[in-house]
Amino acid sequence: MTVPNGHRLAATDDAGVTTADQWCEALAEHAVRTIALDVGRLVVVAPHPDDEVLGLGATMAARSAARSTSRYPDSPHLPDSSGVADSLGSPDPLDVVVCVSDGSASHPGEVAPEVMRGRRQAECEDGARELGIGLRMLDLPDGGLNAADVDAALHPVLDELAPATVAVTWSGDGHPDHHVCAESVQRWIAAREGATLLEFPVWMWHWARPGDPDVPWERLRRVSMPRSESTAAGGSRTEDMTADAFAHKRRALAAHASQLASQSDAPDATVILPPAVVERFFLGDEWVFTP
Ligand SMILES: [Zn+2]
Repeated sequence: MTVPNGHRLAATDDAGVTTADQWCEALAEHAVRTIALDVGRLVVVAPHPDDEVLGLGATMAARSAARSTSRYPDSPHLPDSSGVADSLGSPDPLDVVVCVSDGSASHPGEVAPEVMRGRRQAECEDGARELGIGLRMLDLPDGGLNAADVDAALHPVLDELAPATVAVTWSGDGHPDHHVCAESVQRWIAAREGATLLEFPVWMWHWARPGDPDVPWERLRRVSMPRSESTAAGGSRTEDMTADAFAHKRRALAAHASQLASQSDAPDATVILPPAVVERFFLGDEWVFTP
């Protein structure tokens, strides 16, 4: 399989090419258009546990808070994944993350896959709870997802959840599993009327430079954070809500502890998401490519 930009990701060192500050500066200079997500369920397809938080964690937290405020105006309590079944068919359905692989291959040679599988499932559940969203785990073995297996596991779940919008990792992100999942969602969308496809970058922030010719900048959009009805009037309150959504994202990412710290005492132990990488996902907004 040829993976778009796979050679770029493979050739990039652990620190990455562009810092979070440099991205902030570049994105501020370019008038990136804003996109508001459709009313109705958002399903975020994550090839690995944590991709959903990195890509759209704040957006999902903000939508969850807005939904919660409008449905339960006196309650700060957010719904959790147990509400997915109840909200099927509701005009105000819960957003759902569909995690495709079990994440068991993140530390080959350091942590046994069966140990990592359990660890990452628990982390993904904690992260989803923090964001106030539903979670489905498809549990395909991590490392080398293929189109037939992903289609067979993912498409029936998308049929059932009937999303208005499906967001998936960008097909050009450079990671083979991100590419396979994006193509699978593209096939599901192509066979249906009315569902919107969005693709969010994860590893692009790591290997690309601002203006990079391998990135379709003209299709990049800043995701507009939803506002709850009670706070929509005041600008400062809206800022508060965005800050609050990013605080939920920060805590949801902290739930994925196995990716943030070394999992063994080996001197060259892997840290998948060191601080410099994490900060690229806290640029003050979240970002998607439109078709
Ligand atoms: Zn991933």
